[in-house]
This record gives sequence, structure tokens and C-alpha cells, in this order.
Amino acid sequence: MVRIVLDAGHGGTDSGAVGNGLREKDLTLNIVKKIGNLLNDYEGVEVHYTRTDDRFLELSERAAIANKLKADLLISVHINAGGGTGFESYVYNGNVSAATVAYQNVIHAEIMKAIGNVKDRGKKRADYAVLRLTNMPAILTENLFIDNANDAAKLKSEQFLQQVAYGHVQGIVKAFGLKKKANSTPSQPQQKSSDGKLYRVQVGAFSDRKNAERLAEELKKKGYPAIIV
Ligand SMILES: [Zn+2]
Repeated sequence: MVRIVLDAGHGGTDSGAVGNGLREKDLTLNIVKKIGNLLNDYEGVEVHYTRTDDRFLELSERAAIANKLKADLLISVHINAGGGTGFESYVYNGNVSAATVAYQNVIHAEIMKAIGNVKDRGKKRADYAVLRLTNMPAILTENLFIDNANDAAKLKSEQFLQQVAYGHVQGIVKAFGLKKKANSTPSQPQQKSSDGKLYRVQVGAFSDRKNAERLAEELKKKGYPAIIV
């Protein structure tokens, strides 16, 4: 059983960074819940959260939760600020295991792949408490800049946040070789109900074909069959 601890940065009295009508603490919780939901489609993985609501937690408490669980990985999700654009990831800048470096490589790459046209600011190292105090591989992601208008526009899109979550999940899946649960594969575009009727699910309607193609592409990436009508 692979045990993953998802850490939504900030919370409660600590909003984290704010900008463009967004608060870091809300975005991190939203992303972390999306990651958890997606991970539930995989077998052999146990998902834990440092917080699932808007509450304050010390950095040491977050690490202690993961340490007590003897987790295999902690991922701390953050939003950047301070002038800039793009995505970057961190591991501790002291001694880290080879696994930590390997997980950062694969998770960073999968997130970049999933979020499309976003600047790659690189794989970095820093003395962040949540990374230093954890006994297991720990990675912190900084998902775009809340105080950058272009980045913030993306962060306001639920679909973009879903892509961010998807990238984290693909990274975890590759890092630990997770397999999808047999019954969760959405390989059938339509299911016959007991009364013999067919139900189709529509996910969007666009006046611009490019937007439709983008969504279809996104769905295909996630393993859903998609057609444009
Ligand atoms: Zn933060």
C-alpha cells in the first residue's frame, strides 16, 4: 500500500498569497481535493490530507502528520507570488534520498505536460520546513503566480485546476507504478441502462471549434473517449 499525504498550503488565518481576487489557501485546498479524488481511481494507494477544510496548521504539524502515518510521499501544494510566471517544484536543499530526486523528476515532468503552455521555472531545492521536517520523500509544488494577471486567469478556471491536479496524479502514478482500479476505467462512452436506453454525457458546448478541440484533447489525455459533434 502506497501512502500519500496531500498538504494544502496555508489555511485559516494564514491566507497565503493573495491577488487578483484569489487566495492561495483556497486554491491549494481545491487542487489537493482534486488530486485525492483522482487518486481514488487507483488501487494500492491510501490518500491522507493534512487539512480538508479552511483551518490553520503549523508547518511542523503538517510534517508530523506525514511522519506519524509513515507516509511514502508528502506533496505540499502552493501557489507562487512575488512577480513571475509559471511552475516550479522544490525538494529539501539538505540531504535527500535518491527516491526524493526521482519523484521530483517524474512529478515535475508530468505536471508540466498536463498544464500545457506554462513557463517551466525548473526543479529547485530550498530549506522549507515542511520538506526539512518530513522523514519521507517530500515535494512542494508552486503552481503559477497569484499576482500575475495571466496566471491568475488560469487559476480561476476549474478546468485548469483539474489539469494541475491531473499532472500531480500522473506523476504519483508513474513514481509508484500505480494501476487503475478495474471498475473505474471510463472506457465505455455510453452504458446501457437496465431499461435498454443509452445515455450520453456531454461535457461542453463551444462556439469556437478550437476550444472544443482543446477540451476533447484534454478528455482523451485523461482516458475518456471524446468526439466533437
Ligand atoms: Zn504558499
